[in-house]
Amino acid sequence: MSEEHVLLEEQADRFVKSEFVPHIEKWHEEKIYPREVWTKAGKAGMLCAMIPEEYGGSGGNFGHEAVINRAYSLAGMDSFGAPLHSGIVAPYIMRFGTEEQKKRWLPKLASGEYVGAIAMSEPGAGSDLQRIRTTAVKKGNRYVVNGSKIFITNGQRADLIVVVAKTDPREGAKGVSLMVVEADDAPGFRRGRRLKKLGNDEADTSELFFDDVSLPTENLLGTEEGQGFKQLMHELPQERMIVAYHAVAMMERAVGMTIEYVRQREAFGKKIIEFQNTQFELAACKTEAVIAKTFADECIHRGLKGELDNATAAMCKYWTTDALGKVADRCLQLFGGYGYMDEFPISRIYRDARVMRIYAGTNEIMKLVIARNL
Ligand SMILES: Cc1cc2nc3c(=O)[nH]c(=O)nc-3n(C[C@H](O)[C@H](O)[C@H](O)COP(=O)(O)OP(=O)(O)OC[C@H]3O[C@@H](n4cnc5c(N)ncnc54)[C@H](O)[C@@H]3O)c2cc1C
Repeated sequence: MSEEHVLLEEQADRFVKSEFVPHIEKWHEEKIYPREVWTKAGKAGMLCAMIPEEYGGSGGNFGHEAVINRAYSLAGMDSFGAPLHSGIVAPYIMRFGTEEQKKRWLPKLASGEYVGAIAMSEPGAGSDLQRIRTTAVKKGNRYVVNGSKIFITNGQRADLIVVVAKTDPREGAKGVSLMVVEADDAPGFRRGRRLKKLGNDEADTSELFFDDVSLPTENLLGTEEGQGFKQLMHELPQERMIVAYHAVAMMERAVGMTIEYVRQREAFGKKIIEFQNTQFELAACKTEAVIAKTFADECIHRGLKGELDNATAAMCKYWTTDALGKVADRCLQLFGGYGYMDEFPISRIYRDARVMRIYAGTNEIMKLVIARNL
């Protein structure tokens, strides 16, 4: 961490503790973060840290993004869609958008006026994105978008959605383009159900529908059709690191809260921490958490130097999220029955952790990427 990263860490921690932490339980009960969380985060410079200042961001690098996401997670905001908004959606526009597109959309994403989403998955296509059926067909100077998406993070709140669509349905990967849909200006766009799920209770993961949504040609991201797959592939290592670093923070939090609990709880005339089993379990969990952080830090360091390859990022996403699953399970066990209760955050970590082996590319797909590079 540079000096700047350390300062940001203190600032982010202070901001999250004063503005968000007092309300986390209420938001958990309501199963949604209020809309103002986004604008508050934007105002405090906690969105779009990597976006240059001229487009409304903070002009930082992925290290800044990681520091901020870690602050959200250490505070218990594991279902907040900001890491996806800032670390995935905005970078697509920054990297591949035209100057006009960057000026049009990035300041709104950075301020929180817009909430961003990325819509890749469909009912019939998740891992195998070449199978997507959503189309964006050019008619004169408009594109007409038809199709449906599923499991979309920020789905109910999103103002700007990067939609993966086929501009040439006869082609596989080469026919894919990224279309930007502004929800308020897209008749025919409809939000479907907010999906009920195992964890991430506050997240508005949703279905989205596009029925003859007419977009100006300027809403094709970039200038050329058929670049979507390449654009997606280019951003993948960073997306995987966002999930990996999140897993690291969750592991640290799980171990920390468990140590605190077993120091107080008693059975058979002893504190739970005095049983050797407890000590060994926590020694193992702590070790996994430290290994995970060391590996993820190294990957981020490589990423900052432009040297993070796809396979290493895939290893990091797969290993840290798998390790989190095991650590969360072992820690929960040490809470006994209380660990199963929603009011004990360890139960939320256990539930929220599960999806991290599934999204941003399943861990099986991560192993495929690694295997291809053996
Ligand atoms: C809470 C949540 C939030 C999400 N947010 C978003 C979002 O914001 N935007 C978005 O676009 N998507 C999002 N997703 C979707 C997510 O990315 C997909 O669920 C994921 O990519 C897997 O796709 P699938 O569900 O279609 O599973 P499938 O692709 O059908 O896979 C089913 C199983 O088969 C395995 N499998 C598939 N292919 C292979 C293979 N070649 N070799 C070995 N095993 C294989 C998979 O690993 C998995 O175990 C989200 C999902 C969830 C649950």
